Amino acid sequence: MRYAIVSDIHGNIESLERALALIGDEDTVLCLGDIVGYGPNPNECVRMIQARAQNAVLGNHDLAALENFGVEYFNDAARAAIAWTQEVLSDESRTWLNGLSYELRFPDFLLVHGAPVNYFEYILDKRTAARAFANTDAPLVFIGHTHIAEYWVQEPDGSIGHKHMQNGGELQLEEGRRYIVDVGSVGQPRDLNPDASFAIYDSSARRVEWVRYPYPIAEVQEKIHHVHLPDYLATRLESGR
Ligand code: ZN
Repeated sequence: MRYAIVSDIHGNIESLERALALIGDEDTVLCLGDIVGYGPNPNECVRMIQARAQNAVLGNHDLAALENFGVEYFNDAARAAIAWTQEVLSDESRTWLNGLSYELRFPDFLLVHGAPVNYFEYILDKRTAARAFANTDAPLVFIGHTHIAEYWVQEPDGSIGHKHMQNGGELQLEEGRRYIVDVGSVGQPRDLNPDASFAIYDSSARRVEWVRYPYPIAEVQEKIHHVHLPDYLATRLESGR
């Protein structure tokens, strides 16, 4: 079975279209949330994920768009973008997002937006990674949320390893080790590579591949300006941060 796992699309339909074009028709598409927020095409992204993804979990920006969750912790640009998203979000998008759960458990892996149990926690260091491993018995967890392509591995002795995957690459899963895989972001990469990111998980080969791909950033920037979203949301796309 091949799974294509996308996350943090953030209303960037140009990037989502290109990601889906790279994903095979037989691949099962899974989405880790933050379909809306920041970007200029929230409804289009919801519709496209609704049509193509087999399953999706809720992200914090999706929840913020629905019910102002956590906006007091957002920076000015994120807050302005959520206010705009709330104005344009259709009833259909709202209803569909409202039906998403916080986690999905498959026989051999777990899907959450940020971390197991504490769904919107950021796994940014070995300490938070260790806590995340302790909060689940899943041997493999897929996350997004940080917009950074990387993975954390728990060795049989409990020690934690880490690797950035900002240029793409593969991970061969090994027996006895547990993994937290951050698939990176489709709509707003923040690991200093402006190319967008998603992951392919081949469950029979026990292999994860990070795919980095270019998309027309200038077109998204023009749309951001056109709907008067903050400038910063456009410029950060070209620096990947
Ligand atoms: Zn996000």
